[in-house]
Amino acid sequence: MGYVLRNCDFALTWVNEELRILRKVDVAIEDGLITNVGNIGSTDLEEINCSGHAVIPGIVNAHTHTPMSLLRGFFDDAELTLWLDRMWTVERELGPDVIALGSELSIIEMIMSGTTSFIDMYHNPDVTADIALRYGLRAALGPTFIDTLRDPTQVENELRNFVNRFRGSRLVVPIINVHSIYAVNKDTLLRAKDLSNELNLPIQIHVSETRDEVYKVKREYGVFPVEYLNSLGLVSSKVQLIHLGWITNWELGIIAGANARVTHAPTSNMKLATAGHFPMRELMDMGVLVTLGTDGPASNNSLDMFREMKMAVLLQRHSYWDVGIKAVHAFKAATLNGYRLLGIDGGCIDKGCVADLVLLDLSSPRLQPVRDDNLLSNIVYSVDGSDVSTVIVNGRIIYDRDRDYYALRDRAVKIGEELNDFIQRFL
Ligand SMILES: [Zn+2]
Repeated sequence: MGYVLRNCDFALTWVNEELRILRKVDVAIEDGLITNVGNIGSTDLEEINCSGHAVIPGIVNAHTHTPMSLLRGFFDDAELTLWLDRMWTVERELGPDVIALGSELSIIEMIMSGTTSFIDMYHNPDVTADIALRYGLRAALGPTFIDTLRDPTQVENELRNFVNRFRGSRLVVPIINVHSIYAVNKDTLLRAKDLSNELNLPIQIHVSETRDEVYKVKREYGVFPVEYLNSLGLVSSKVQLIHLGWITNWELGIIAGANARVTHAPTSNMKLATAGHFPMRELMDMGVLVTLGTDGPASNNSLDMFREMKMAVLLQRHSYWDVGIKAVHAFKAATLNGYRLLGIDGGCIDKGCVADLVLLDLSSPRLQPVRDDNLLSNIVYSVDGSDVSTVIVNGRIIYDRDRDYYALRDRAVKIGEELNDFIQRFL
């Protein structure tokens, strides 16, 4: 049996690439799908009064490293190479128990701030997948090739086991993670491509995050990073490229021509001072699927995707000196495009769409004055995660603020205390 979200004041949905704002609608949900939208008469489904709320598609965080909440605020404000060195010192010591605590803390934060799906890059993905399933969140993840820390044969074996365990899951989507060109050798890149073809899995990789990375790749291989990946057959519709702060015009053409997917992580780029510029407008104009991610909680330091949408727009405006990138572009990147990246028919509030939805409390001061003409602006530029009142994934209500807030808050505090016990010796 399902239920009806009755009397939602607004519903934000995508119809043929256009955002539509519907007024006073009911949304029926059965077996994980939206089965009816509009003025629904009486049914025998359970009724949930949503008056005073706006319903929006659940938000997709297209790139993060969930266990790294354990390193939130750790060695912050250091220069990037020094910061990474300190991170990796701790990460070499991490066992599954600590990774589980970090992932659980991140998952709690994401649920409470309206994220319904996340794409994760880290080690021990089975641990994170189990926690995501326990909380009911949708997750795309898999083991990470990073030759500087892990034997690639071992990573491949983990990947095969992970795929065997989760293939066919409704909430867990296996993917191949490759940390970056600079953290793996050519053989590992080719191994990842072969595995992607054999197992039909997408690949996620950090690319052209820093100027230094571009120099190193150019010096070693004679070409720019996207050109190098393309020469190995690693720019395609199955590949998700993260960051792209330092890319050339001709690399944009390669990405668009190959229909590769891209993800912008504006807060992380600004905080780590990697500079450069993610060409969001050019990529969107070229028809490339642009998504948004927070990156890890060590480099953001928040997992609140409402903040990330705002940062994406502001950073583009700061770089371009114009208003070409608008709230609607960020909202699309964080909703509709995220579902396309995941290969799920979602991001919309329409019959047949997956029921991954978020209810926003319209009584929040950040949403005043409430009108349909300013609602999207308020969601992207003013709302934060604390304005989320209900989170639904695959039809299941996984967060109801009135019901769950205190239990999740208390669990987060307990995890924080346990993480402090672990991190103490590295301070
Ligand atoms: Zn990252």
